Amino acid sequence: MSIVFSSKNLKPLSTSRRRILVAGGAGFLGSHLCERLLIEGNTVLCVDNFSTGRLENLRHLRGFEGFSFVRHDIVEPLDLPVDEIYNLACPASPPHYQLDPIHTMKTSVIGSLNLLELAVRNQARIFQASTSEVYGDPHVHPQPEAYWGNVNSFGPRACYDEGKRSAETLFYDFHKQHRLDIRVVRIFNTYGPRMRPDDGRVVSNFIVQALKGEDITIYGDGSQSRSFCYVDDLIEGFHRLMYAEPAIHTPVNIGNPGEFTVRELAERIVAMTGTKSKIVYHPLPVDDPRQRRPDISIAKKELGWEPTVALEDGLRSTIAYFERQLTKTSAKLVE
Ligand code: NAD
Ligand code: UDP
Repeated sequence: MSIVFSSKNLKPLSTSRRRILVAGGAGFLGSHLCERLLIEGNTVLCVDNFSTGRLENLRHLRGFEGFSFVRHDIVEPLDLPVDEIYNLACPASPPHYQLDPIHTMKTSVIGSLNLLELAVRNQARIFQASTSEVYGDPHVHPQPEAYWGNVNSFGPRACYDEGKRSAETLFYDFHKQHRLDIRVVRIFNTYGPRMRPDDGRVVSNFIVQALKGEDITIYGDGSQSRSFCYVDDLIEGFHRLMYAEPAIHTPVNIGNPGEFTVRELAERIVAMTGTKSKIVYHPLPVDDPRQRRPDISIAKKELGWEPTVALEDGLRSTIAYFERQLTKTSAKLVE
């Protein structure tokens, strides 16, 4: 693995393979995507500011000759030769994206603009990781791509939701004005190995709390629902959309339509871990969506994609991952 610590040191990449830039590649989803692209023999440059991403997520990729990474914030322009761009850069967990909401908005808007301009200069195909949050607190259930959503532009989630909506608009306009080959995926709640133990999202919180024997924190009464997709299914969906022929330039939902209340998720994790943790109730965060479930008719019809990993199986491997993480941390403390 060649490690480039400063964007000033960027070198042209070898031209023998597809040169793929993955922005946000050190994060949970980005690291799985980099791995998939490297296994396929591509040259992958991960660009990340390491705000929520971790070096640890990239460690297993150092054996791949075609892999390099650079610490760079996509809010700053970048210039290098690329054939394809994936934009996953943006904190995804509510506590993280609300920590510096102005920077979150800048990441989605200015960051996307910088990557779109890079794509124009290179005539590169470009992929945007959008989100089910563009539907806000939805009045239509399940959510099809044609639904315009119910989003508060003036609340704590707005920096993320409106940032992602603006990014979709920019992608649309670059496609119209510059004939750019764009792909836009709307991702529904995804979980799996390489989430941070302190990520703050519901699956990682509940598993880590259960494994540590701490209280399991349900926000609200736990009757709100989410649909949880395992990371391997999601990455397969990314791949099918990015390389779909004929191209699909409109947004596509990728997620698992299996819908569970937050209370059901907590009870399932308690049962699977055998923990003695108590379930406790905390106030519901402002603007927390009541329900969420993807309508995946387009993904099924146009991409032949549907999820294959049941919640129970995905949770089992995620629990095993966090068990290993926590064992490593406690071993370090003993040393
Ligand atoms: P993550 O927080 O683990 O990863 C985001 C990565 O982007 C991190 O490595 C972070 O350091 C990097 N980053 C953030 N701001 C940056 C900036 N300005 N410049 C460069 N790098 C920056 O989150 P994730 O779950 O892997 O999500 C990846 C993408 O998918 C995000 O864009 C997110 O909005 C989207 N998404 C994820 C989910 C999900 O359930 N995981 C759902 C909907 C959308
Ligand atoms: N949630 C919870 N306890 C936690 C973390 C989250 O009850 O410790 C709830 C949260 O209020 C929301 C759901 O779980 O209703 C999903 O939250 P997450 O942050 O994972 O994703 P998002 O709200 O962005 O869908």
